[in-house]
Amino acid sequence: MPWFRKKKGKIEPVRDEERVVRTENVFVRCEECGEHLYKKELEEALQVCVHCSYHFRLGAYDRLEKLFDDGYCEELDAEVVSTDPLEFVDSKPYVNRIAQAQRATGLPEAVITARGKVGGHRVFGGAMDMNFIGGSMGSAVGEKLTRLIEHAMKERGAVIIFAASGGARMQEGTLSLMQMAKISAALAALEERHLPFISVLTDPTTGGVTASFAMLGDLIIAEPKALVGFAGPRVIEQTIRQKLPKDFQRSEFLLSHGMIDEIVDRREMRPYIIKALDFMMNPAITSESTAQLSGLKFQVSGSHP
Ligand SMILES: [Zn+2]
Repeated sequence: MPWFRKKKGKIEPVRDEERVVRTENVFVRCEECGEHLYKKELEEALQVCVHCSYHFRLGAYDRLEKLFDDGYCEELDAEVVSTDPLEFVDSKPYVNRIAQAQRATGLPEAVITARGKVGGHRVFGGAMDMNFIGGSMGSAVGEKLTRLIEHAMKERGAVIIFAASGGARMQEGTLSLMQMAKISAALAALEERHLPFISVLTDPTTGGVTASFAMLGDLIIAEPKALVGFAGPRVIEQTIRQKLPKDFQRSEFLLSHGMIDEIVDRREMRPYIIKALDFMMNPAITSESTAQLSGLKFQVSGSHP
């Protein structure tokens, strides 16, 4: 559209309401620094602001694609979805809430699990998604993660889980809390088999997820400035009647207090994980049968299930 037009020999400016440039779906505003970011560039930078390194939230499928070699992996247990054992109704029936979340996100559940290779190592990866009922952990999320760990034990691979969760899924009551123990028990069995679990904490990792598997990693890493905690700061302040320090429950605070091992920028995450796997999956360090992982075809030694 021209910004000036000729009218009877005179040049007349175009009125503001006519001067429209369509920019929706092209630019995104950074929530941290306010800069406008070209969407395509933001995608290339793995959804990290090029000006201030703010980490935008990433969906589960994107996470796994960025993790596995050539973005290739095989999804596991996609058929495991939540039912409604308590026939729970809050502002709407729980079954409707699940169906709505599935339609809106294209995800079957709040976690996606997959098998693939990372830096050539056999990896069983899981990624949670905040867009699916706040990344809450119900029976299906617990079951999928437990099965992921069991797959890893059976095929002798490493487990990597990207946590992003508001906590347990309230609509499933105690059944959702039970998942904390179930996943933790599976991780204990994984450890007995000398197979590593890398836990990656992303913004936000809270509630029952923090209180169980997310903090049980052999290696616990977090993305910069991720909120990681059990109860929210307001609840804690009211309980202990004290003002909490600035940046309380952010990954930087957790690192300085020895709660996590490292903070890793998302753009460095894959090489960092590969380096960790090179070390953790080294047959000289783990059990002798791990050496068989190097080829695509391998046989699990008789003494391992
Ligand atoms: Zn920014």
